[in-house]
Amino acid sequence: MMNQDEKRGQRGDSFLSEVVNASGETIDSCYQCQKCSAGCPVAYAMGILPHQILRHIQYGHREKVLSSRTIWICASCYTCGVRCPNNISIARVMDTLRHLAIHAGVKLGEEDVPIFHSVFLDAIKKGGRVYELGLIFQFKSKTRDFLKDTELGWKMFRRGKIRLLPPPFSSKKEIREIFNVYEKGKRG
Ligand code: SF4
Ligand code: SF4
Repeated sequence: MMNQDEKRGQRGDSFLSEVVNASGETIDSCYQCQKCSAGCPVAYAMGILPHQILRHIQYGHREKVLSSRTIWICASCYTCGVRCPNNISIARVMDTLRHLAIHAGVKLGEEDVPIFHSVFLDAIKKGGRVYELGLIFQFKSKTRDFLKDTELGWKMFRRGKIRLLPPPFSSKKEIREIFNVYEKGKRG
């Protein structure tokens, strides 16, 4: 009887095998329930949603996946892995994809990613969690690209994914300690 690798090899989906082997995640078992994308805190800023990335990997769409902005927007928060009924850690898959993209010399899918990361970390530092409207405002004011993704933003707002008011923040001390440790680590 053939094992999973042999079956994949027969179908010619070497990209799927490559990502499965490098990440250790059972991407084949994803049945597109979309729970990962529904809970992703930064889905509104992604081009291709997390469950769609998994589907593209299953179909062997290497270039589309490795050049997507999604793999750089993912904040590795692990929310999706907790929600996945098949225990697939998409954060680990995204990490693998970033490594593959760098290794393959693929052009960065999103030039504004470093700005997004700094605005995202700043938002966590100040509010303990993402306040989407504030984050979008900060991101737009830094990139000066006010029209990009307006349709996506409106769609997310209508679905109730963008809150008008910041969420309550009660763990200021703990968050400050985490950032202090991080800053010390950066300074070596
Ligand atoms: S939650 Fe898991 S099974 Fe569902 S779409 Fe996402 S990765 Fe696939
Ligand atoms: S790990 Fe990445 S893809 Fe998963 S919920 Fe967090 S930001 Fe979204």
